[in-house]
Amino acid sequence: PVSEEQRGWVQALDHSGRLLRDILDDILDFTRLESGRVAVEAAPFSLRERVAMVEATIRPAMERKALAFTVTVDPALPDGLVGDAGKLGQILLNLLGNAAKFTHSGGVALSVAPAEASADRLRITVADSGIGIAPEALAHIFEPFSQADGSVARRFGGSGLGLAVCRGLLDVLGGSIELETEPGRGTIFTVLFP
Ligand code: ADP
Repeated sequence: PVSEEQRGWVQALDHSGRLLRDILDDILDFTRLESGRVAVEAAPFSLRERVAMVEATIRPAMERKALAFTVTVDPALPDGLVGDAGKLGQILLNLLGNAAKFTHSGGVALSVAPAEASADRLRITVADSGIGIAPEALAHIFEPFSQADGSVARRFGGSGLGLAVCRGLLDVLGGSIELETEPGRGTIFTVLFP
């Protein structure tokens, strides 16, 4: 049994440990991309299984903040796909982690559908009702170590590498990432994933 005070310490340790691990992961991923040693896999995988794994990983973060979290996979999509499922998971976790971090009420929606323009791509959107991104920050948001405002790291943690890693991975894969955002109302990231 732990006392109230000790419980506080344990929670602080847990929280700090998670933040530290996320930063290390970002730095490793970014360094790997910089060194040009990121190989693209093309292997069969189950789309719905992969999405369910991501959902199970991130749902606790949504629940801690009492955010609604919906996940939709278009029934028109086949389940057996060929591609880089590891990178798909990494990109989804990054975007969903940000959505959870920067949303304080409302919710987050992940949807996966076929891309209209090309049959061999997924169109993935991650939409949140969070703080949004100021127009002046948008130009730099995908650059390494860039955060929308200097106080973000202090308040929310993170390294400013997550989006740079997402974009770097999608460059290697031949995909793309864009966003629409409105400060105070939310952000929608759209990824085309080969
Ligand atoms: P990190 O999250 O580690 O700070 P990222 O590269 O993932 O780094 O994101 C860079 C910055 O973009 C964040 O610090 C934040 O200012 C902004 N950002 C990213 N995703 C969102 C989002 N869903 N809502 C609001 N701001 C976001």
